[in-house]
Amino acid sequence: MRGMHSPQPSATTPGDGPRDQLGRALRDLRVSVTDRCNLRCRYCMPREVFGPDHAFLPREDLLGFEEISRLVRVLAGLGVGKIRITGGEPLLRRDLSELVAQIAAVEGIHDIALTTNGVLLPQHAEDLAAAGLGRVTVSLDALDDATFRAMADTAVPVASVLAGIEAAQRAGLTPVKVNAVLQRGVNDDQLEALADFGRRTGVVIRFIEFMDVGTTNGWRRDQVVPAREVVERLHARWPLDPVDDGSGAAVAERYRYRDGGGEVGVIASVTRPFCRTCTRARLSAVGELFTCLFGARGHDLRALLRGGIDDEELTARLATIWGRRDDRASERRAATGLTGERVEMSYIGG
Ligand code: SF4
Repeated sequence: MRGMHSPQPSATTPGDGPRDQLGRALRDLRVSVTDRCNLRCRYCMPREVFGPDHAFLPREDLLGFEEISRLVRVLAGLGVGKIRITGGEPLLRRDLSELVAQIAAVEGIHDIALTTNGVLLPQHAEDLAAAGLGRVTVSLDALDDATFRAMADTAVPVASVLAGIEAAQRAGLTPVKVNAVLQRGVNDDQLEALADFGRRTGVVIRFIEFMDVGTTNGWRRDQVVPAREVVERLHARWPLDPVDDGSGAAVAERYRYRDGGGEVGVIASVTRPFCRTCTRARLSAVGELFTCLFGARGHDLRALLRGGIDDEELTARLATIWGRRDDRASERRAATGLTGERVEMSYIGG
């Protein structure tokens, strides 16, 4: 596990749950339910690494839905209120709406979201909404079909993702958000077209700075399109006003179009890191708890679950893990750059 000297768990505020070494509460859990995907986005799952010979996680090693919802229940007792289901591509996990229904029944969970590439949404949106899913975020990096296929390294047309977004809107999984990773020289020419798409459809586009998540996506600093530039380009075309939701813990910087065209966001992990307000933990599909997207290893909760631990002891272990947390990788990157081993995004979901 992390570091030579393990910092002592920080104080726990009654009803508020544990605080980490930087005083951050635990509020959000991202649950990866599979490491498999039906696309091969180059900044996440480059085919040369995740090709036909890649050893994906065996099905029997994955946490079962009961194990996941038990962890959600215990973590809800420590302050978690938001669950985001991710992958790989979560819609590849069979009967996912059963998991959604189990999580929706957990007391204290007030927000259940899903991050997906959208391709399978037409088949699943209605069932997921009926099971209790509240909203979806769809990854879409280009409207131009050739650019989309090149970035996702796929023969799947962009129209499939657009059909998925429509299916989510019809099912009431709104507001549908779109995450678009911008890479200079790859799809930064798509910025205005994606923003215009959001204005026309009511979808909230969030432009994401290209990140060095994992160690396989060939990240280069000069391929990052800074949030400042994104906002300047949008404002030049459609004047914007910043939106402050007062939560202070939002991942995205939000802006409203002055002409009533809706909202747009930027996620500036590279140029404007937000580690100080990061209240997120991530659970891998085999039950490792990561306290940072740029972590190397997680805490093996599956062994505890399958070893017969009771809820009281599990709660204490989780509080200790969070209390010892001192992650702030994006801030460190800004200061010294990131080096060393880092878990792949497709393994714990962005
Ligand atoms: S780099 Fe780690 S600590 Fe910082 S915001 Fe991202 S997940 Fe949170």
